[in-house]
Amino acid sequence: MNAIGIDIGGTHTRTARVSEDGRILAHRSFATPRDARALLTALIGEAAIFADADTRAIGIGIPGRVDGRTGKILSGGFIDLSVLPLADELNRASQLPVFTDNDANMALAAEARLGAARNLADAAMLTIGTGIGGAILSGGRIFHGGGLAGQLGHITVKADGHLCNCGRTGCLETESSGTALQRHIAEAGLPKGTIIETLLASNSAAVAAWIAPLRAGIDSLVAAFGPEIVILGGGLGASAFKALDRFPSVSPWFQCRVVAAELSDEAGVIGAGLSALERSR
Ligand SMILES: [Zn+2]
Repeated sequence: MNAIGIDIGGTHTRTARVSEDGRILAHRSFATPRDARALLTALIGEAAIFADADTRAIGIGIPGRVDGRTGKILSGGFIDLSVLPLADELNRASQLPVFTDNDANMALAAEARLGAARNLADAAMLTIGTGIGGAILSGGRIFHGGGLAGQLGHITVKADGHLCNCGRTGCLETESSGTALQRHIAEAGLPKGTIIETLLASNSAAVAAWIAPLRAGIDSLVAAFGPEIVILGGGLGASAFKALDRFPSVSPWFQCRVVAAELSDEAGVIGAGLSALERSR
């Protein structure tokens, strides 16, 4: 038995055939089209390539808000997939059940099965990239709450901070994402394109401006959910994890182990495949 996992990223979309135990049996990636209809056409082609006699379902990690109870896509960032019935059309073309969820939820599902949260029942994850995604594992399952739980990038960390896409100001995403890091670098007077290793080797104000709000966000999510660990993933997760050492939690109440994600960029497709298999049972 296997499933097709799809992870739609800002630059690349990854697709894979994933086994029941989370192994990638075959994989591809392609540049993500900016147009939702063009992406759907590409995914229909990918499903035709990857499906074999043992394929049971397709799982898709969506960059945006997805109602975890219904799979309905409500909004998107760099590509807005709420404008078409993605799952229905892919189902019609492939004749396979299609399950959608937020991309960070998919990544945490993979970390829970094979990575940093294996053998744990309660964990939180932040995926730090262009934006910041979030996910909660509660009692061994991804927590959807009323449908949209886990948007940890929208915890307020600086009330007078920058305006966020969600309509508020000073969200974790507006202060500690990769996009925010580029702004902090410019504001510190450092050259554009300063690489993260150079930045972390210094005591730059840009590092403090980037990481102090992350510490505040982590402490708040620990206060709210009490996870056993907090996992930092996404393209900047490992760098943020290193820098966080300099910003320990000042609160004795909200101490929690923070770790870097163990699975690479493949967490999204693995989690999408595993989640699809689980839900199709
Ligand atoms: Zn926000």
